Amino acid sequence: MNIHEYQAKELFKEFGIPVPSGVLVESVDEARRVVAESPLFKGETKPAVWAVKAQIHAGGRGKAGGVKLARKPEEVPDLVGQILGKTLVTHQTGPEGKKVLKVWIEEGSNIVREFYLGVVIDRTTRRMTLIASTEGGMEIEEVAQSHPEKIFHYPVDPLEGYSPYIGRRISQFLGLPFTAQSQMVNIVRDLVDFFQKRDASMVEINPLVLTKEDRLVALDAKVGFDDNAVGRHPEIRSLRDLTEENELEIEASKYNLNYVKLDGNIACMVNGAGLAMATMDVIALAGGSPANFLDVGGGASKETVEQAFRIILGDPHVKGIFVNIFGGIVRCERIAGGIIAAAQDVKISVPLVVRLQGTNAKEGREMLKSSGLAIQVAEELFEGAEKIVLAVKGGK
Ligand code: GDP
Ligand code: MN
Repeated sequence: MNIHEYQAKELFKEFGIPVPSGVLVESVDEARRVVAESPLFKGETKPAVWAVKAQIHAGGRGKAGGVKLARKPEEVPDLVGQILGKTLVTHQTGPEGKKVLKVWIEEGSNIVREFYLGVVIDRTTRRMTLIASTEGGMEIEEVAQSHPEKIFHYPVDPLEGYSPYIGRRISQFLGLPFTAQSQMVNIVRDLVDFFQKRDASMVEINPLVLTKEDRLVALDAKVGFDDNAVGRHPEIRSLRDLTEENELEIEASKYNLNYVKLDGNIACMVNGAGLAMATMDVIALAGGSPANFLDVGGGASKETVEQAFRIILGDPHVKGIFVNIFGGIVRCERIAGGIIAAAQDVKISVPLVVRLQGTNAKEGREMLKSSGLAIQVAEELFEGAEKIVLAVKGGK
């Protein structure tokens, strides 16, 4: 589960990680009110610059015009107006882009240097790994390609946990001035603490900046949480923003279907995540391209199958469906019955290939064949994949 920058900054603040103070607005009127009333625009200590930032679940906003600086308070509502409602297209949004519904206004910083600081789970070492780089503000994947020597990795030993020397090593690698080193030690400590206590799966501060005043500040904040752990953090779960998620994926989660939309045109419906992965591979091997990942789970009923068909067909790119079920706990004739019943209720206007194997597979296949529905039946996995690819390519 991902959250917005402003939400991540609020969580950072709770853990003592320095962030600029700011206010969230959802309209130009609200921005005007904030400029007139908020302490962010008042008093002797008010900033000289304000940053106006689009809130979407994607990076690369700066280059796409989603981050603007105001030199005077009266410029702020105009900038909010320019960003709100706009569809930002960045390398992380896909070509359709993301519409901006919220804007974060914050105290601007006098940037001297920009760094990268992040934490991820490295599946190879099975450890939480700190990543730091002198090339802040740039995409870390690009830096990893062109200048791997500018990236520092540190896998944190789970038994040892965080120790101040890790923060000092990072400070040295980044060449921080003496005054900023102790700040870095605290930031790294607090970031590790946050990552562990809140079950994050990824945290990225890009950039972490050194200001003219010699302060380190998290200017951007990107946080992802482990979906399997969100259940024990109601305060994190409440930060979920459904407008940022794929509608079909939201719909699928209501029925406990594990659905991930992909770019291809052959939809698949499979029981079991491993079999679903293998099915996608085999579709690709047969020359097709999967439209989704879908695991209907162990006890697929008529209702589940029907919902799964509805979700799959909600994607306008789908030109064919491949159902691949292994009858282990669930018996194939029950699945076949579910498919027949569902196919009568949901209008399936694209070719459908069903492969059944396992308990009572033969009975299941017979039921499909004699149903009078336009269903192609397969016994083997590759045979099924070939049939659906052929049907889609031949337009049958
Ligand atoms: P992203 O493009 O989505 O990663 O958005 P960021 O929050 O990282 O902002 C992009 C860039 O805008 C940063 O790398 C900074 O260079 C710049 N920026 C953001 N906030 C400020 C600010 O307060 N002052 C100045 N001078 N630049 C800023
Ligand atoms: Mn950034």
